[in-house]
Amino acid sequence: MTRPAASHSSCSGCDLCLLACPVWRQTRDIRLTPHGRAKALQHGATAAELGTSIASCTLCGSCEPACPEEIPLVDLILDLRRKHPLAPAPESRPAQATATVSGTLILPDVALRADAARLARIAASLGAGLAADDGADISLALEAGARVPPARLTQFLAGLAAATRLVAADGLLLRQLHAWLPGKHIDSLGIALSALPSVRSKLRARDLYVIEPRAFHADHARLAGHYDALRVDIGLETNLDLQRLAIPTTASSAQNRLGLRALDAAEQANWILEGRNFERVVVEDAHDCAVFAAVTDRPVVHLGDL
Ligand code: SF4
Ligand code: SF4
Repeated sequence: MTRPAASHSSCSGCDLCLLACPVWRQTRDIRLTPHGRAKALQHGATAAELGTSIASCTLCGSCEPACPEEIPLVDLILDLRRKHPLAPAPESRPAQATATVSGTLILPDVALRADAARLARIAASLGAGLAADDGADISLALEAGARVPPARLTQFLAGLAAATRLVAADGLLLRQLHAWLPGKHIDSLGIALSALPSVRSKLRARDLYVIEPRAFHADHARLAGHYDALRVDIGLETNLDLQRLAIPTTASSAQNRLGLRALDAAEQANWILEGRNFERVVVEDAHDCAVFAAVTDRPVVHLGDL
């Protein structure tokens, strides 16, 4: 018999979701955690009453693999945000025909798009083209809980239809693309690059390799094997910790882009570095380059720059 999808009503209050939750780590406020939201909803709270809690989540997804009740905690936060948005809808691009391109297409995120030289190097390494429409407005609307006009979403997905493979740098967009385009070959930027022999050959045993958590947690059961193999083959360390949860810096969360109160990414980065013996930090998420460079005197490099 198929197990029905779990929801907040399934929460037992075990607190395992707090293990890697950056909001819990920095605030120690149970009301801002999945446990706190679930218990409040079980007692009849509305999305509006949970507004502060809903807004505090970075959507990193680290709580999901920890939850023994298998509650889809990120989907539930996105649902609560749609009922109580973080911010008004960001301006949506007008719907218009987009040229379709076959082969591999890269969808860059904000930080990757800001570095044209790095993006060109990555595209060359992957033999990929750049998506003419990267869906940045859609990603921001998803994070904010704002409505995406159906015509805009249709236009965006039509531009991806001919691609045989999508490589998405934005982990939240990647999670949604899996749902919107079932059967399409979709990889995170980290998986795509770290699978290349030319990139793997430049990783070293004393590297601390920082996995982008949103993409990892969107498909952690499958991706854990990829990163285990990387760890064993190269001998490096990763930010998988506390029962194999990818700890985030939170630097890419929408709170920063929307000008809202954001968590201290440097504190998260220090937590990731704590107790590690490393010579270099290699990051998948371009947002993390500056965050780690500010807290360590060791070299910090993006995977696409190796
Ligand atoms: S998604 Fe991240 S920030 Fe949000 S509740 Fe889960 S662990 Fe905490
Ligand atoms: S891990 Fe799951 S069941 Fe346990 S407190 Fe968190 S949300 Fe509830």
